[in-house]
Amino acid sequence: MPDPIYLDYAATTPVLPEVIDAMLPWFGEQFGNPGSVHRWGQKADAALNRARRDIAAVLNCAASEVVFTGAGSEADNLALRGVMMAAHIANRGNHFITTNAEHEAVLATAEQLAAHYGFDLTILPVDAFGQVSATQVAAAIRHDTVLVSVIWGNNEIGTLNDLPAIAEVCRALGVLLHSDGLQAAGQLNPDVTALGVDLLSIGAHKFYGPKGVGALYVRSGVDLLPSQTGGGQEGGLRAGTSNVPLAVGMAAAFTAAHERRDAQAAHYRHLRDMLIDGICQRIPDVRLTGHPTARLPNHASFVFRGIDGNDLLMQLDLAGIAASSGSACKTGNPEPSAVIRALGIDDEWGLGSLRLTVGRHTTESDIAFVLDTLPGIVARMRG
Ligand SMILES: *Cc1c(COP(=O)(O)O)cnc(C)c1O
Repeated sequence: MPDPIYLDYAATTPVLPEVIDAMLPWFGEQFGNPGSVHRWGQKADAALNRARRDIAAVLNCAASEVVFTGAGSEADNLALRGVMMAAHIANRGNHFITTNAEHEAVLATAEQLAAHYGFDLTILPVDAFGQVSATQVAAAIRHDTVLVSVIWGNNEIGTLNDLPAIAEVCRALGVLLHSDGLQAAGQLNPDVTALGVDLLSIGAHKFYGPKGVGALYVRSGVDLLPSQTGGGQEGGLRAGTSNVPLAVGMAAAFTAAHERRDAQAAHYRHLRDMLIDGICQRIPDVRLTGHPTARLPNHASFVFRGIDGNDLLMQLDLAGIAASSGSACKTGNPEPSAVIRALGIDDEWGLGSLRLTVGRHTTESDIAFVLDTLPGIVARMRG
């Protein structure tokens, strides 16, 4: 039995050894609270500030515009809740816009704000590739619109949205733009000025950093109501003693992700395209989901007609391949994911979704093994 192959880098990534090394002292002898006045506190505070500066350097923003959070989901929550609550208090408007292909961290937050906090929400439908256009966004903006939130790189289908074009419309109409950058920010250039976003969520465990730490870029001057109150940490936006080791690890991982970004992305695209071309050539009744070219470098996703996606994942796991699917099996009544349905794919195809995401440890022989193994599994399941 060959070593199992991990092709689920969109779910999470292993922490790089140098990132672990960078974190270790801050779990050990350097244990101070960055809020303390004494030398332990000063050292921890300096490390936290260095981490913030390093992340800001990659984002091309000021260190004061980076807010550490406890997860990517928390960054999304802080963006949506913080902006809408602050606008409500200042009487600046009640309406916000998102899409029907967002991660749950955005969509569930938006729906709760609409259902229980009195905000008015427009959910834009994505096209068959999973994109929303700047024209659609412009048409949905009203006099009372405060915020638009559009995912950058889709976790399920890999599609990239054209943030600069959407940002131009938002800026012209005086509306803030947030983007969930969890998948894309570790692989593509997350320069917030080039992207044009006012708020951007990132998370360390998607780019070979530790779990349980994320950050929200908040453009200077954007008003947020803190969603967690207490001490004045993180510019008053996120109370709680800062997690120095995780912040240090996130900064080390983000810096490492961008040192060789273009070479890394080219390598991922090569492996991804081997998967897409190979699977589409070797297996009948399969379709690529998401955009054929505007997609995350490491992301290949498909639907197979007449296949149960969860069964497929189990068969792949038995064969030594770790993959993922969009569909959630609800007590014996499998349903395609909302994102797959948003593409207009019917259930006969949509139930058979598969996501394969490559990463730093993926080799061409891993891909060859998948291309040798998957056609037989699909044929057996259909037979
Ligand atoms: C992983 C992910 C999240 C959630 O991040 P956590 O750090 O796991 O909370 C949000 N959005 C997207 C697109 C993601 O891929």
